[in-house]
Amino acid sequence: MKDNFGREIDYLRVSVTTRCNLNCIYCGKADCDKKEQELSAKTIIALVHAFARCGIKKVRVTGGEPLVRADVCDIVRGVKSIPGIETVALTTNGVLLEQFAKPLVDAGLSSVNISLDSTDGSTYRHLTGADVLDRVLRGIDAAQCDGLSAIKINAVLMKGVNDAGAGDLIALAKDSPIDVRFIELMPFSSVGEDNDKRVTGDELLRRFPFLRQLETQETATARYYTADGFRGRIGLISPVSHKFCDRCSRVRLLSDGSVKPCLAFDDSYDLLAYKDDPAALTARIREIIQAKPAGHDFGGGTTTHGLNRTGG
Ligand code: SAM
Repeated sequence: MKDNFGREIDYLRVSVTTRCNLNCIYCGKADCDKKEQELSAKTIIALVHAFARCGIKKVRVTGGEPLVRADVCDIVRGVKSIPGIETVALTTNGVLLEQFAKPLVDAGLSSVNISLDSTDGSTYRHLTGADVLDRVLRGIDAAQCDGLSAIKINAVLMKGVNDAGAGDLIALAKDSPIDVRFIELMPFSSVGEDNDKRVTGDELLRRFPFLRQLETQETATARYYTADGFRGRIGLISPVSHKFCDRCSRVRLLSDGSVKPCLAFDDSYDLLAYKDDPAALTARIREIIQAKPAGHDFGGGTTTHGLNRTGG
């Protein structure tokens, strides 16, 4: 369906938990281990049914860390079986992906995004608080073997923290058909609010002049590049320096059953009160989608939520 600004909203991100097995410095973690209200797989699937009735076609399961939920495959399978839902994707830190890749594919997962901010063990440990880089790399291998249609690595660079490793991350797209995407640090949490730490997409293009922009750009959010001899692509996602709000197609279902129409604002709207009345639920979702804000102004400090609560 279209929102009040004529944007087609067909993409739902579903945060299935706020819990995470990492403690990343930019995420606003403090409460990551606390088990807050978490919807059952059945309730999540029922809510996504209602979103599908409102025109949602693509779903991304996220968190917190979605793979800390033992029933994540049930969620993927249930969502994939909903009429109108064409693809189910997942965003994960990859720590548990080695064991989950095959069952997730069997459950109907189409693609996976893996967050990896450094290929250097000690930098990775500094960023995430955990010594698990090897497990993540094995998870990336497992995902390739298990034939997911697309594997994307998402990295957030911070000056003086992990930006020196950008070239090593880019190299991951050389020999494997993996897309490596750099997401600009957004102003969530105290680290994110440090504008001096942000590495913009344009800075990366100056630093890696061998990257050539691809003619076909299939998404509204990422600008894609290639280089000679590369099997994968390099993507630049620049929500701060190159806003794409006018092409935004997404809304978010949080793990407490509320809907967040825009990542940059704290506003979220409860759905659980409507869950036993499908007609009222659908009407409420339509209202919320219609009222999605035109866009963000990250400069204005509009949100206080870290991404562990909202889902990446
Ligand atoms: N646990 C999953 C993961 O690691 O992919 C899903 C959720 S996690 C919040 C998703 C991603 O959000 C992080 O890995 C990071 O790439 C991104 N993220 C978190 N805080 C961010 C910030 N301030 N700016 C930009 N990206 C951020």
